[in-house]
Amino acid sequence: MNKNYDKNNIFAKILRSEVPFHKVLENDYALAFSDINPQSPIHILIIPKKAYLNFHYFIENGSTKEIEFFWKLVNDVIKLYKISMNGFRIISNSGDDGNQDVPHFHVHLLGGKNLGKMIN
Ligand code: 5GP
Repeated sequence: MNKNYDKNNIFAKILRSEVPFHKVLENDYALAFSDINPQSPIHILIIPKKAYLNFHYFIENGSTKEIEFFWKLVNDVIKLYKISMNGFRIISNSGDDGNQDVPHFHVHLLGGKNLGKMIN
């Protein structure tokens, strides 16, 4: 489980409060914070508090409660920014083909403008 998880990846450091970040929301199992290099007016990252390499490892190994509370937090951020009507995009990059840069499972929640077609 969690093959190759790097305990010193930047999101692990954020979870340990070793580096500054702008917290948006949290619950017992997940944390939402602003992306340092936003690609749209709203660009929030949501991560589980426990160590999971990517979506696959999270779903394979996370508890039902962790998975439930993770997605609830994503929805709470959608509510906080009032983007349910205008719309948004949720992306999770994984591994080499997905061009994942930070090896701790996260979803990007993007919104605040028309985001264009997904893949050019
Ligand atoms: P990935 O390519 O792994 O899906 O996305 C990683 C995201 O993390 C990028 O959008 C990048 O801007 C963001 N990021 C990288 N380092 C930091 C950091 O130190 N703080 C915050 N808030 N975001 C970061």
